[in-house]
Amino acid sequence: MQALILQKDHDQLTANIQSIPTEQLPPGDVIIDIYWSTLNYKDALAINGKAGVVRQYPMVPGIDFSGVVHHSEDPRFSVGQHVLLTGWGVGETHWGGLATQARVPADYLTPLPENLSLRQAMIIGTAGFTAMLCVNALQDAGITPDKGEIIVSGASGGVGSTAIQLLSQLGYDVVAISGRAENSDYLLKIGAKRVLARSDFTGTAKPLDKQHWAGAIDTVGGEVLANILAQTQYNGAVAACGLAGGFSLPTTVMPFILRNIRLQGVDSVYYPASKRPAVWQRLSQLLPESFYSQITSEITLEQSVEYAQKFLKNQITGRTLVKIL
Ligand code: NDP
Repeated sequence: MQALILQKDHDQLTANIQSIPTEQLPPGDVIIDIYWSTLNYKDALAINGKAGVVRQYPMVPGIDFSGVVHHSEDPRFSVGQHVLLTGWGVGETHWGGLATQARVPADYLTPLPENLSLRQAMIIGTAGFTAMLCVNALQDAGITPDKGEIIVSGASGGVGSTAIQLLSQLGYDVVAISGRAENSDYLLKIGAKRVLARSDFTGTAKPLDKQHWAGAIDTVGGEVLANILAQTQYNGAVAACGLAGGFSLPTTVMPFILRNIRLQGVDSVYYPASKRPAVWQRLSQLLPESFYSQITSEITLEQSVEYAQKFLKNQITGRTLVKIL
């Protein structure tokens, strides 16, 4: 089998595609032939040796994949079955999806929903799964389309782009925040009603600002999230899942104690296995056919290191699909 192997020698990180015997894969109940993986922001951090995503080497990165069961020691999965995986520390602490095969505990796998292909599942991938969890969080907080506009930050990215599509399919008016004016047409095409410049949301946030947003999905953190909180309407909700702009949160208690705003953290990695199929079902029903062509670039395993560098330079738009087999 082939795998992208991250290795660290004397603090020097290398990332090379290598041929290795399947027996070298970490322990698990199921071996999967991987057809598709993707690049996410976290993969870019891992491949570039940033932020402690990977602490033990050698490591195969790739936090998600879809493929076909090659061998199973678990009665829930049979040879030939189509499956997908996101999260559980795969690609961080357990060898991941940027390889032709993976061996994982059966509990990590989700059967592929009937109405999705292996390729479509990974166009959605971790980013889309997280976007759906964010939308669900807003709905759980009672944010209905009649309450007002929803703002989405990091709009050109995988999570942001998918969140825009999902919200617009559900009838919400979506406002996108982007640092790239050249992406405005793309963002309007995938469902944003208007696009605001990221620079309008940087700089020290006031404790309270004019009330604009019924809800928000934030993928960047930092000053952008602080400004969104200050501009969120009374009783609004903000789902925060990312840190593309930094992990600080320079805000005050004012939006929470004077405007009754809810800040809901969203983690997809350890989202319970039993609840995952329903989330995937909802994604497969909501996303239009056009989503799969508009949002995707396709690369090879060999190109993944080069593209991981582009991620950290903010040169990636939408989802980056890695064709493995
Ligand atoms: P992408 O790199 O695809 O998208 C991030 C977007 O953020 C970029 O496209 C860009 O959009 C914007 N951005 C980039 N740099 C900055 C910056 N310095 N300041 C402000 N905005 C910036 O990443 P993903 O969509 O895959 O992930 C987004 C975030 O969500 C990441 O932090 C990731 O780790 C996190 N995440 C969390 C998950 C969870 O379970 N909690 C799961 C998946 C992702 P634009 O140019 O339009 O402004």
